[in-house]
Amino acid sequence: MSTLDDNIAKLSGFLGRFRETGIQNRIGGQDVVGSGGVFQAHSPVDKSLICDVAHGTAVDIDRAANAASDAFADWRDMPALERKKILIRVAEGIEARAEEIALCECWDTGQALKFMSKAALRGAENFRYFADQVVQARDGQHLQSPTLMNVTMRKPIGPVGVITPWNTPFMLSTWKIAPALAAGCTVVHKPAEASPLTARLLVEIAEEAGLPAGVLNTVNGFGEGAGKALCEHPKIKAIAFVGESATGSLITKQGADTLKRNHLELGGKNPVIVFEDADLERALDAVIFMIYSINGERCTSSSRLLVQDTIREEFEAKLVARVNNIRVGHPLDPKTEIGPLVTEEHFNKVTSYFEIAKEDGATVAAGGEVVGDEGYFVRPTLFTNANNGMRIAQEEIFGPVLTSIPFNTEEEALSMANDTDYGLTGYLWTNDLTRALRFTDKLEAGMIWVNSENVRHLPTPFGGVKASGIGRDGGDWSFEFYMEQKHIGFATGQHKITKLGAL
Ligand code: NAD
Repeated sequence: MSTLDDNIAKLSGFLGRFRETGIQNRIGGQDVVGSGGVFQAHSPVDKSLICDVAHGTAVDIDRAANAASDAFADWRDMPALERKKILIRVAEGIEARAEEIALCECWDTGQALKFMSKAALRGAENFRYFADQVVQARDGQHLQSPTLMNVTMRKPIGPVGVITPWNTPFMLSTWKIAPALAAGCTVVHKPAEASPLTARLLVEIAEEAGLPAGVLNTVNGFGEGAGKALCEHPKIKAIAFVGESATGSLITKQGADTLKRNHLELGGKNPVIVFEDADLERALDAVIFMIYSINGERCTSSSRLLVQDTIREEFEAKLVARVNNIRVGHPLDPKTEIGPLVTEEHFNKVTSYFEIAKEDGATVAAGGEVVGDEGYFVRPTLFTNANNGMRIAQEEIFGPVLTSIPFNTEEEALSMANDTDYGLTGYLWTNDLTRALRFTDKLEAGMIWVNSENVRHLPTPFGGVKASGIGRDGGDWSFEFYMEQKHIGFATGQHKITKLGAL
Protein backbone atom coordinates (compact mmCIF):
# COMPACT_ATOMS: atom_id res chain seq x y z
CA MET A 1 0.00 0.00 0.00
CA SER A 2 1.36 3.45 -0.88
CA THR A 3 2.16 5.87 1.93
CA LEU A 4 1.08 9.46 2.43
CA ASP A 5 4.43 10.68 1.04
CA ASP A 6 4.08 8.47 -2.05
CA ASN A 7 0.60 9.81 -2.64
CA ILE A 8 1.64 13.43 -2.21
CA ALA A 9 4.46 12.91 -4.71
CA LYS A 10 2.11 11.30 -7.22
CA LEU A 11 -0.49 14.02 -6.74
CA SER A 12 2.09 16.68 -7.36
CA GLY A 13 2.86 15.04 -10.71
CA PHE A 14 -0.83 14.95 -11.62
CA LEU A 15 -1.43 18.58 -10.60
CA GLY A 16 1.49 20.01 -12.56
CA ARG A 17 -0.47 20.39 -15.79
CA PHE A 18 -3.40 22.06 -13.99
CA ARG A 19 -1.03 24.54 -12.37
CA GLU A 20 0.53 25.34 -15.73
CA THR A 21 -2.54 25.79 -17.88
CA GLY A 22 -5.44 25.99 -15.44
CA ILE A 23 -8.70 24.25 -16.27
CA GLN A 24 -10.37 25.40 -19.45
CA ASN A 25 -13.91 24.72 -20.51
CA ARG A 26 -14.22 21.93 -23.04
CA ILE A 27 -16.69 22.75 -25.78
CA GLY A 28 -17.09 20.90 -29.08
CA GLY A 29 -13.83 19.05 -28.47
CA GLN A 30 -11.87 22.28 -27.98
CA ASP A 31 -10.38 24.00 -24.93
CA VAL A 32 -12.14 27.33 -24.53
CA VAL A 33 -11.28 30.09 -22.06
CA GLY A 34 -14.10 31.26 -19.83
CA SER A 35 -15.85 34.39 -21.04
CA GLY A 36 -16.00 35.52 -17.40
CA GLY A 37 -12.21 35.17 -16.93
CA VAL A 38 -11.11 32.72 -14.24
CA PHE A 39 -11.87 31.74 -10.68
CA GLN A 40 -9.55 29.85 -8.38
CA ALA A 41 -9.75 26.34 -6.99
CA HIS A 42 -8.28 25.86 -3.50
CA SER A 43 -7.60 22.70 -1.57
CA PRO A 44 -9.45 22.31 1.73
CA VAL A 45 -6.46 20.40 3.09
CA ASP A 46 -4.24 23.49 3.48
CA LYS A 47 -6.22 26.25 1.70
CA SER A 48 -3.52 26.41 -0.99
CA LEU A 49 -4.27 27.42 -4.56
CA ILE A 50 -4.69 24.45 -6.88
CA CYS A 51 -5.18 26.27 -10.17
CA ASP A 52 -7.21 28.79 -12.14
CA VAL A 53 -10.49 27.58 -13.55
CA ALA A 54 -12.37 28.99 -16.54
CA HIS A 55 -15.26 31.11 -15.33
CA GLY A 56 -18.03 30.17 -17.71
CA THR A 57 -21.07 32.40 -18.14
CA ALA A 58 -24.21 32.39 -20.27
CA VAL A 59 -21.98 33.01 -23.33
CA ASP A 60 -20.06 29.76 -22.78
CA ILE A 61 -23.24 27.85 -22.00
CA ASP A 62 -24.73 29.07 -25.28
CA ARG A 63 -21.64 27.88 -27.14
CA ALA A 64 -21.74 24.50 -25.39
CA ALA A 65 -25.47 24.04 -25.92
CA ASN A 66 -24.99 24.74 -29.62
CA ALA A 67 -22.10 22.25 -29.77
CA ALA A 68 -24.26 19.62 -28.02
CA SER A 69 -27.12 20.39 -30.37
CA ASP A 70 -24.89 20.10 -33.48
CA ALA A 71 -23.47 16.78 -32.27
CA PHE A 72 -26.84 15.30 -31.32
CA ALA A 73 -28.11 13.80 -34.61
CA ASP A 74 -24.91 11.86 -35.36
CA TRP A 75 -24.62 10.54 -31.81
CA ARG A 76 -28.30 9.59 -31.71
CA ASP A 77 -28.04 7.79 -35.04
CA MET A 78 -24.74 6.01 -34.40
CA PRO A 79 -25.39 2.24 -34.34
CA ALA A 80 -26.00 1.12 -30.77
CA LEU A 81 -23.08 -1.31 -30.77
CA GLU A 82 -20.67 1.44 -31.75
CA ARG A 83 -21.94 3.68 -28.98
CA LYS A 84 -21.64 0.77 -26.58
CA LYS A 85 -17.99 0.20 -27.57
CA ILE A 86 -17.15 3.84 -26.93
CA LEU A 87 -18.79 3.79 -23.49
CA ILE A 88 -16.90 0.65 -22.55
CA ARG A 89 -13.69 2.33 -23.62
CA VAL A 90 -14.61 5.26 -21.35
CA ALA A 91 -14.96 2.78 -18.46
CA GLU A 92 -11.54 1.34 -19.31
CA GLY A 93 -10.06 4.84 -19.49
CA ILE A 94 -11.44 5.62 -16.02
CA GLU A 95 -9.97 2.41 -14.65
CA ALA A 96 -6.60 3.20 -16.22
CA ARG A 97 -6.57 6.65 -14.60
CA ALA A 98 -8.36 5.67 -11.36
CA GLU A 99 -5.43 6.67 -9.17
CA GLU A 100 -5.12 10.09 -10.78
CA ILE A 101 -8.87 10.63 -10.42
CA ALA A 102 -8.88 9.53 -6.79
CA LEU A 103 -5.88 11.63 -5.74
CA CYS A 104 -7.16 14.75 -7.51
CA GLU A 105 -10.62 14.26 -6.01
CA CYS A 106 -9.17 13.98 -2.50
CA TRP A 107 -7.12 17.14 -2.92
CA ASP A 108 -9.99 19.08 -4.46
CA THR A 109 -12.75 17.99 -2.05
CA GLY A 110 -11.00 16.82 1.13
CA GLN A 111 -12.47 13.34 0.85
CA ALA A 112 -10.32 10.52 2.24
CA LEU A 113 -8.52 8.28 -0.27
CA LYS A 114 -9.93 5.27 1.60
CA PHE A 115 -13.30 6.07 0.04
CA MET A 116 -12.34 7.97 -3.12
CA SER A 117 -10.29 5.16 -4.62
CA LYS A 118 -13.53 3.16 -4.75
CA ALA A 119 -15.56 6.13 -5.98
CA ALA A 120 -13.39 6.42 -9.10
CA LEU A 121 -13.95 2.75 -9.87
CA ARG A 122 -17.67 3.11 -9.26
CA GLY A 123 -17.60 5.75 -11.98
CA ALA A 124 -16.23 3.12 -14.36
CA GLU A 125 -18.94 0.69 -13.23
CA ASN A 126 -21.59 3.26 -14.09
CA PHE A 127 -20.25 3.48 -17.65
CA ARG A 128 -20.04 -0.32 -18.01
CA TYR A 129 -23.52 -0.86 -16.62
CA PHE A 130 -25.20 1.63 -18.95
CA ALA A 131 -23.04 0.55 -21.92
CA ASP A 132 -24.58 -2.89 -21.47
CA GLN A 133 -28.09 -1.41 -21.76
CA VAL A 134 -27.44 0.59 -24.95
CA VAL A 135 -28.80 -1.99 -27.34
CA GLN A 136 -32.20 -2.48 -25.64
CA ALA A 137 -32.64 1.12 -24.45
CA ARG A 138 -34.80 2.12 -27.42
CA ASP A 139 -36.91 -1.03 -27.53
CA GLY A 140 -40.62 -0.61 -26.95
CA GLN A 141 -43.81 -2.60 -26.78
CA HIS A 142 -46.32 -3.99 -29.19
CA LEU A 143 -49.86 -3.28 -27.96
CA GLN A 144 -52.48 -4.77 -30.23
CA SER A 145 -55.94 -3.15 -30.31
CA PRO A 146 -59.00 -4.23 -32.38
CA THR A 147 -58.16 -1.89 -35.26
CA LEU A 148 -54.51 -0.99 -34.79
CA MET A 149 -51.14 -2.47 -34.29
CA ASN A 150 -49.67 -0.08 -31.73
CA VAL A 151 -45.96 0.06 -31.21
CA THR A 152 -43.91 2.13 -28.81
CA MET A 153 -40.28 3.11 -29.02
CA ARG A 154 -37.98 5.38 -27.05
CA LYS A 155 -35.99 8.21 -28.56
CA PRO A 156 -33.28 10.24 -26.80
CA ILE A 157 -34.75 13.53 -25.62
CA GLY A 158 -31.95 15.67 -27.12
CA PRO A 159 -29.07 17.66 -25.60
CA VAL A 160 -29.32 17.64 -21.81
CA GLY A 161 -27.73 19.62 -18.98
CA VAL A 162 -26.10 17.85 -16.04
CA ILE A 163 -25.47 19.96 -12.91
CA THR A 164 -23.52 18.25 -10.13
CA PRO A 165 -22.46 19.02 -6.53
CA TRP A 166 -19.05 18.81 -4.88
CA ASN A 167 -19.53 15.67 -2.80
CA THR A 168 -18.02 12.66 -4.62
CA PRO A 169 -18.25 14.75 -7.79
CA PHE A 170 -16.64 12.25 -10.16
CA MET A 171 -18.88 9.33 -9.22
CA LEU A 172 -22.01 11.48 -9.24
CA SER A 173 -21.19 12.97 -12.63
CA THR A 174 -20.77 9.54 -14.20
CA TRP A 175 -24.04 8.44 -12.64
CA LYS A 176 -25.81 11.07 -14.74
CA ILE A 177 -23.61 11.34 -17.80
CA ALA A 178 -23.26 7.59 -18.49
CA PRO A 179 -27.02 6.89 -18.91
CA ALA A 180 -27.50 10.15 -20.84
CA LEU A 181 -24.84 9.14 -23.37
CA ALA A 182 -26.10 5.56 -23.47
CA ALA A 183 -29.58 6.85 -24.29
CA GLY A 184 -28.12 8.82 -27.21
CA CYS A 185 -28.30 12.29 -25.66
CA THR A 186 -25.51 14.81 -25.85
CA VAL A 187 -24.50 16.60 -22.65
CA VAL A 188 -23.46 19.96 -21.27
CA HIS A 189 -21.98 19.36 -17.82
CA LYS A 190 -21.74 22.15 -15.24
CA PRO A 191 -19.64 20.77 -12.37
CA ALA A 192 -19.68 22.31 -8.89
CA GLU A 193 -17.43 25.34 -8.64
CA ALA A 194 -15.85 23.85 -5.49
CA SER A 195 -14.60 20.70 -7.24
CA PRO A 196 -13.67 21.22 -10.91
CA LEU A 197 -10.68 18.86 -11.30
CA THR A 198 -12.17 15.46 -12.02
CA ALA A 199 -14.88 16.78 -14.37
CA ARG A 200 -12.00 17.85 -16.58
CA LEU A 201 -10.45 14.39 -16.36
CA LEU A 202 -13.76 12.79 -17.31
CA VAL A 203 -14.22 14.77 -20.52
CA GLU A 204 -10.60 14.06 -21.50
CA ILE A 205 -11.02 10.33 -20.88
CA ALA A 206 -14.28 10.31 -22.84
CA GLU A 207 -12.76 12.03 -25.86
CA GLU A 208 -9.68 9.77 -25.76
CA ALA A 209 -12.09 6.82 -25.77
CA GLY A 210 -13.54 8.06 -29.06
CA LEU A 211 -16.52 10.10 -27.90
CA PRO A 212 -17.13 12.49 -30.81
CA ALA A 213 -16.48 16.21 -30.26
CA GLY A 214 -19.47 18.04 -28.79
CA VAL A 215 -21.14 14.95 -27.34
CA LEU A 216 -19.88 15.83 -23.86
CA ASN A 217 -19.10 19.47 -23.10
CA THR A 218 -17.90 20.81 -19.77
CA VAL A 219 -18.51 24.39 -18.69
CA ASN A 220 -17.18 25.49 -15.31
CA GLY A 221 -18.74 28.35 -13.46
CA PHE A 222 -21.14 29.33 -10.73
CA GLY A 223 -24.71 28.29 -10.16
CA GLU A 224 -26.26 31.71 -10.60
CA GLY A 225 -24.32 32.27 -13.86
CA ALA A 226 -23.52 29.17 -15.91
CA GLY A 227 -25.94 26.93 -13.99
CA LYS A 228 -28.90 29.24 -14.44
CA ALA A 229 -28.10 29.82 -18.13
CA LEU A 230 -28.02 26.06 -18.70
CA CYS A 231 -31.49 25.67 -17.16
CA GLU A 232 -32.81 28.49 -19.33
CA HIS A 233 -31.25 27.45 -22.63
CA PRO A 234 -33.88 26.53 -25.25
CA LYS A 235 -31.70 23.88 -26.92
CA ILE A 236 -31.28 21.98 -23.65
CA LYS A 237 -34.23 19.62 -23.27
CA ALA A 238 -33.75 18.35 -19.73
CA ILE A 239 -31.73 19.04 -16.60
CA ALA A 240 -30.37 16.26 -14.42
CA PHE A 241 -29.55 17.96 -11.15
CA VAL A 242 -27.94 16.81 -7.91
CA GLY A 243 -27.66 19.32 -5.08
CA GLU A 244 -29.51 21.11 -2.33
CA SER A 245 -33.29 21.17 -2.09
CA ALA A 246 -33.40 24.99 -2.28
CA THR A 247 -31.36 24.89 -5.50
CA GLY A 248 -33.68 22.19 -6.87
CA SER A 249 -36.54 24.59 -6.49
CA LEU A 250 -34.58 27.26 -8.43
CA ILE A 251 -33.81 24.72 -11.17
CA THR A 252 -37.54 24.16 -11.62
CA LYS A 253 -38.31 27.88 -11.78
CA GLN A 254 -35.46 28.62 -14.18
CA GLY A 255 -36.58 25.89 -16.55
CA ALA A 256 -40.23 26.91 -16.58
CA ASP A 257 -40.15 29.16 -19.67
CA THR A 258 -38.52 26.48 -21.80
CA LEU A 259 -40.66 23.68 -20.28
CA LYS A 260 -37.63 21.72 -19.09
CA ARG A 261 -37.90 18.19 -17.88
CA ASN A 262 -36.07 18.09 -14.55
CA HIS A 263 -34.73 15.26 -12.49
CA LEU A 264 -33.90 16.47 -8.99
CA GLU A 265 -31.76 14.55 -6.50
CA LEU A 266 -31.73 16.70 -3.40
CA GLY A 267 -30.93 16.75 0.29
CA GLY A 268 -31.77 14.44 3.16
CA LYS A 269 -32.03 14.16 6.94
CA ASN A 270 -32.17 10.42 6.93
CA PRO A 271 -33.13 8.39 9.99
CA VAL A 272 -31.50 5.18 11.16
CA ILE A 273 -33.83 3.44 13.59
CA VAL A 274 -32.33 0.93 16.00
CA PHE A 275 -34.69 -1.35 17.95
CA GLU A 276 -33.60 -3.27 21.05
CA ASP A 277 -34.04 -6.61 19.25
CA ALA A 278 -31.51 -5.75 16.50
CA ASP A 279 -28.02 -7.18 16.02
CA LEU A 280 -26.54 -4.26 17.90
CA GLU A 281 -22.91 -4.82 16.93
CA ARG A 282 -23.75 -4.69 13.23
CA ALA A 283 -26.14 -1.81 13.80
CA LEU A 284 -23.36 0.12 15.53
CA ASP A 285 -20.96 -0.46 12.62
CA ALA A 286 -23.58 0.68 10.11
CA VAL A 287 -24.64 3.74 12.11
CA ILE A 288 -21.01 4.87 12.28
CA PHE A 289 -20.25 4.11 8.65
CA MET A 290 -23.33 5.87 7.31
CA ILE A 291 -22.58 9.23 8.93
CA TYR A 292 -18.82 9.40 9.35
CA SER A 293 -17.63 7.95 6.02
CA ILE A 294 -17.18 10.38 3.10
CA ASN A 295 -16.86 13.18 5.71
CA GLY A 296 -20.60 12.90 6.33
CA GLU A 297 -20.94 14.79 3.04
CA ARG A 298 -23.31 12.30 1.49
CA CYS A 299 -26.97 12.77 0.69
CA THR A 300 -27.82 9.26 1.92
CA SER A 301 -26.04 9.64 5.28
CA SER A 302 -28.04 8.61 8.33
CA SER A 303 -27.68 11.84 10.25
CA ARG A 304 -30.50 11.11 12.72
CA LEU A 305 -30.14 8.11 15.02
CA LEU A 306 -33.43 7.04 16.57
CA VAL A 307 -32.50 4.54 19.28
CA GLN A 308 -34.87 2.63 21.54
CA ASP A 309 -34.65 3.97 25.09
CA THR A 310 -34.02 0.52 26.61
CA ILE A 311 -30.65 0.23 24.84
CA ARG A 312 -29.86 3.87 24.44
CA GLU A 313 -27.31 4.30 27.22
CA GLU A 314 -25.18 1.33 26.21
CA PHE A 315 -25.46 2.06 22.47
CA GLU A 316 -24.50 5.72 22.88
CA ALA A 317 -21.56 4.81 25.16
CA LYS A 318 -20.18 2.45 22.51
CA LEU A 319 -20.82 5.07 19.86
CA VAL A 320 -18.87 7.73 21.76
CA ALA A 321 -15.88 5.40 22.18
CA ARG A 322 -15.80 4.55 18.48
CA VAL A 323 -16.42 8.11 17.27
CA ASN A 324 -13.54 9.39 19.39
CA ASN A 325 -11.33 6.80 17.70
CA ILE A 326 -12.10 7.83 14.13
CA ARG A 327 -8.94 9.00 12.41
CA VAL A 328 -9.10 12.59 11.17
CA GLY A 329 -6.19 13.51 8.94
CA HIS A 330 -4.65 14.17 5.58
CA PRO A 331 -6.99 12.73 2.95
CA LEU A 332 -4.10 11.14 1.05
CA ASP A 333 -3.00 9.16 4.10
CA PRO A 334 -4.44 5.69 3.42
CA LYS A 335 -5.30 5.36 7.13
CA THR A 336 -7.36 8.57 7.28
CA GLU A 337 -11.08 8.09 7.81
CA ILE A 338 -12.18 11.75 7.79
CA GLY A 339 -10.54 14.53 5.80
CA PRO A 340 -11.29 18.26 5.78
CA LEU A 341 -14.65 19.70 4.81
CA VAL A 342 -14.84 20.94 1.25
CA THR A 343 -14.80 24.74 1.59
CA GLU A 344 -14.57 27.50 4.17
CA GLU A 345 -18.25 28.24 3.63
CA HIS A 346 -19.23 24.65 4.31
CA PHE A 347 -16.84 24.44 7.29
CA ASN A 348 -18.53 27.52 8.77
CA LYS A 349 -21.94 25.98 8.22
CA VAL A 350 -21.06 22.64 9.85
CA THR A 351 -19.24 24.19 12.82
CA SER A 352 -22.13 26.63 13.45
CA TYR A 353 -24.19 23.60 14.52
CA PHE A 354 -21.80 22.97 17.44
CA GLU A 355 -23.23 26.13 19.07
CA ILE A 356 -26.76 25.63 17.77
CA ALA A 357 -26.85 22.19 19.44
CA LYS A 358 -25.83 23.65 22.81
CA GLU A 359 -28.27 26.57 22.52
CA ASP A 360 -31.07 24.09 21.83
CA GLY A 361 -30.14 22.10 24.96
CA ALA A 362 -28.48 19.04 23.39
CA THR A 363 -25.25 17.52 24.71
CA VAL A 364 -22.06 17.41 22.65
CA ALA A 365 -21.10 13.83 23.54
CA ALA A 366 -18.17 13.63 21.10
CA GLY A 367 -16.31 16.08 18.90
CA GLY A 368 -17.89 19.47 18.47
CA GLU A 369 -14.55 21.09 17.76
CA VAL A 370 -12.27 22.00 14.90
CA VAL A 371 -8.88 20.36 14.33
CA GLY A 372 -5.93 22.70 13.70
CA ASP A 373 -6.17 25.78 11.52
CA GLU A 374 -4.33 24.67 8.42
CA GLY A 375 -7.40 23.32 6.64
CA TYR A 376 -11.10 22.78 7.23
CA PHE A 377 -10.88 19.84 9.63
CA VAL A 378 -13.46 19.04 12.31
CA ARG A 379 -13.72 16.22 14.81
CA PRO A 380 -16.48 13.70 14.16
CA THR A 381 -19.34 14.86 16.31
CA LEU A 382 -22.19 13.23 18.21
CA PHE A 383 -25.06 15.12 19.78
CA THR A 384 -27.15 13.34 22.43
CA ASN A 385 -30.07 14.40 24.65
CA ALA A 386 -31.69 15.78 21.55
CA ASN A 387 -35.28 15.76 20.40
CA ASN A 388 -36.66 15.65 16.89
CA GLY A 389 -37.81 19.27 16.95
CA MET A 390 -34.28 20.68 17.33
CA ARG A 391 -32.51 22.25 14.36
CA ILE A 392 -29.80 19.57 14.61
CA ALA A 393 -32.56 17.00 13.98
CA GLN A 394 -34.32 18.84 11.19
CA GLU A 395 -31.64 20.59 9.11
CA GLU A 396 -29.21 18.91 6.74
CA ILE A 397 -25.79 19.61 8.28
CA PHE A 398 -23.94 17.57 5.63
CA GLY A 399 -20.87 16.88 7.77
CA PRO A 400 -19.61 14.16 10.14
CA VAL A 401 -22.26 15.07 12.68
CA LEU A 402 -24.83 12.67 14.16
CA THR A 403 -27.84 13.54 16.31
CA SER A 404 -29.06 10.76 18.62
CA ILE A 405 -32.69 10.79 19.75
CA PRO A 406 -34.34 8.20 21.99
CA PHE A 407 -37.74 6.63 21.35
CA ASN A 408 -39.98 4.38 23.38
CA THR A 409 -42.49 2.71 21.06
CA GLU A 410 -42.56 1.71 17.40
CA GLU A 411 -45.27 4.32 16.75
CA GLU A 412 -43.12 7.03 18.27
CA ALA A 413 -40.11 5.96 16.18
CA LEU A 414 -42.15 6.02 12.99
CA SER A 415 -43.68 9.37 13.75
CA MET A 416 -40.25 10.93 14.43
CA ALA A 417 -38.69 9.25 11.40
CA ASN A 418 -41.34 10.82 9.17
CA ASP A 419 -41.34 14.19 10.94
CA THR A 420 -38.95 15.89 8.50
CA ASP A 421 -39.23 17.80 5.25
CA TYR A 422 -36.94 15.26 3.60
CA GLY A 423 -37.49 11.67 2.45
CA LEU A 424 -34.39 10.29 0.74
CA THR A 425 -33.34 7.16 2.67
CA GLY A 426 -34.17 5.30 5.87
CA TYR A 427 -32.30 2.51 7.66
CA LEU A 428 -34.07 0.08 9.96
CA TRP A 429 -32.43 -2.29 12.43
CA THR A 430 -34.69 -4.96 13.91
CA ASN A 431 -34.96 -8.73 13.92
CA ASP A 432 -38.74 -8.64 14.05
CA LEU A 433 -39.82 -9.38 10.49
CA THR A 434 -43.42 -8.24 10.79
CA ARG A 435 -42.30 -5.00 12.37
CA ALA A 436 -39.88 -4.48 9.49
CA LEU A 437 -42.69 -5.02 6.99
CA ARG A 438 -45.02 -2.66 8.85
CA PHE A 439 -42.40 -0.01 9.40
CA THR A 440 -40.94 0.10 5.90
CA ASP A 441 -44.46 0.32 4.46
CA LYS A 442 -45.11 3.51 6.42
CA LEU A 443 -41.66 5.10 6.35
CA GLU A 444 -41.61 8.11 4.01
CA ALA A 445 -38.42 7.57 2.00
CA GLY A 446 -37.48 6.73 -1.56
CA MET A 447 -34.97 4.10 -0.44
CA ILE A 448 -34.90 1.95 2.68
CA TRP A 449 -32.39 -0.61 3.88
CA VAL A 450 -33.27 -3.17 6.58
CA ASN A 451 -30.39 -4.51 8.67
CA SER A 452 -27.95 -3.02 6.20
CA GLU A 453 -26.03 0.11 5.44
CA ASN A 454 -26.62 1.75 2.06
CA VAL A 455 -25.43 -0.71 -0.60
CA ARG A 456 -26.03 0.62 -4.09
CA HIS A 457 -27.18 -1.84 -6.74
CA LEU A 458 -27.31 -0.09 -10.11
CA PRO A 459 -30.52 -1.69 -11.44
CA THR A 460 -32.53 -0.45 -8.43
CA PRO A 461 -34.29 2.94 -8.35
CA PHE A 462 -32.38 5.73 -6.61
CA GLY A 463 -34.18 8.90 -5.54
CA GLY A 464 -36.19 10.57 -2.84
CA VAL A 465 -39.65 11.76 -1.87
CA LYS A 466 -40.79 15.06 -0.29
CA ALA A 467 -38.01 17.69 -0.36
CA SER A 468 -35.44 15.04 -1.31
CA GLY A 469 -36.27 15.06 -4.96
CA ILE A 470 -38.30 14.19 -8.00
CA GLY A 471 -37.48 11.28 -10.28
CA ARG A 472 -35.37 8.16 -10.10
CA ASP A 473 -31.98 7.03 -11.38
CA GLY A 474 -30.81 3.50 -11.97
CA GLY A 475 -31.72 0.73 -14.35
CA ASP A 476 -34.39 1.60 -16.83
CA TRP A 477 -35.53 4.54 -14.69
CA SER A 478 -32.55 6.51 -15.99
CA PHE A 479 -33.58 5.89 -19.60
CA GLU A 480 -37.14 6.98 -18.86
CA PHE A 481 -35.68 10.38 -17.97
CA TYR A 482 -33.25 10.77 -20.86
CA MET A 483 -35.65 9.44 -23.50
CA GLU A 484 -39.09 10.21 -24.91
CA GLN A 485 -41.69 7.53 -25.37
CA LYS A 486 -43.17 7.49 -28.84
CA HIS A 487 -46.34 5.68 -29.89
CA ILE A 488 -47.25 4.78 -33.45
CA GLY A 489 -50.57 3.15 -34.39
CA PHE A 490 -50.77 1.23 -37.70
CA ALA A 491 -54.27 0.48 -38.98
CA THR A 492 -54.63 -3.24 -39.51
CA GLY A 493 -57.72 -2.94 -41.72
CA GLN A 494 -60.44 -0.65 -42.97
CA HIS A 495 -61.97 0.36 -39.63
CA LYS A 496 -64.80 2.87 -39.68
CA ILE A 497 -63.66 6.50 -39.64
CA THR A 498 -66.39 8.85 -38.47
CA LYS A 499 -67.29 11.09 -41.38
CA LEU A 500 -67.94 14.79 -40.68
CA GLY A 501 -69.37 17.14 -43.32
CA ALA A 502 -70.36 14.24 -45.52
CA LEU A 503 -73.96 13.74 -46.62
P1 NAD B 1 -25.79 23.11 -4.45
O1 NAD B 1 -27.24 22.97 -4.68
O2 NAD B 1 -25.30 24.32 -3.76
O3 NAD B 1 -24.98 23.04 -5.82
C1 NAD B 1 -25.11 21.95 -6.71
C2 NAD B 1 -24.82 22.44 -8.11
O4 NAD B 1 -25.84 23.36 -8.49
C3 NAD B 1 -23.51 23.19 -8.27
O5 NAD B 1 -22.92 22.82 -9.50
C4 NAD B 1 -23.95 24.65 -8.30
O6 NAD B 1 -23.06 25.49 -8.99
C5 NAD B 1 -25.26 24.53 -9.01
N1 NAD B 1 -26.20 25.63 -8.79
C6 NAD B 1 -26.32 26.43 -7.72
N2 NAD B 1 -27.28 27.36 -7.92
C7 NAD B 1 -27.79 27.12 -9.16
C8 NAD B 1 -28.80 27.72 -9.95
N3 NAD B 1 -29.50 28.77 -9.51
N4 NAD B 1 -29.06 27.22 -11.17
C9 NAD B 1 -28.37 26.16 -11.63
N5 NAD B 1 -27.39 25.56 -10.95
C10 NAD B 1 -27.11 26.02 -9.71
O7 NAD B 1 -25.36 21.78 -3.68
P2 NAD B 1 -23.92 21.43 -3.07
O8 NAD B 1 -23.75 22.23 -1.84
O9 NAD B 1 -22.90 21.51 -4.16
O10 NAD B 1 -24.12 19.88 -2.72
C11 NAD B 1 -24.59 19.40 -1.54
C12 NAD B 1 -26.07 19.06 -1.64
O11 NAD B 1 -26.28 18.05 -2.64
C13 NAD B 1 -26.64 18.46 -0.36
O12 NAD B 1 -27.89 19.04 -0.08
C14 NAD B 1 -26.80 16.98 -0.70
O13 NAD B 1 -27.77 16.30 0.06
C15 NAD B 1 -27.16 17.04 -2.14
N6 NAD B 1 -26.91 15.76 -2.79
C16 NAD B 1 -27.99 14.97 -3.12
C17 NAD B 1 -27.78 13.72 -3.71
C18 NAD B 1 -28.95 12.83 -4.05
O14 NAD B 1 -28.75 11.88 -4.79
N7 NAD B 1 -30.15 13.08 -3.56
C19 NAD B 1 -26.48 13.28 -3.95
C20 NAD B 1 -25.41 14.11 -3.59
C21 NAD B 1 -25.64 15.35 -3.03
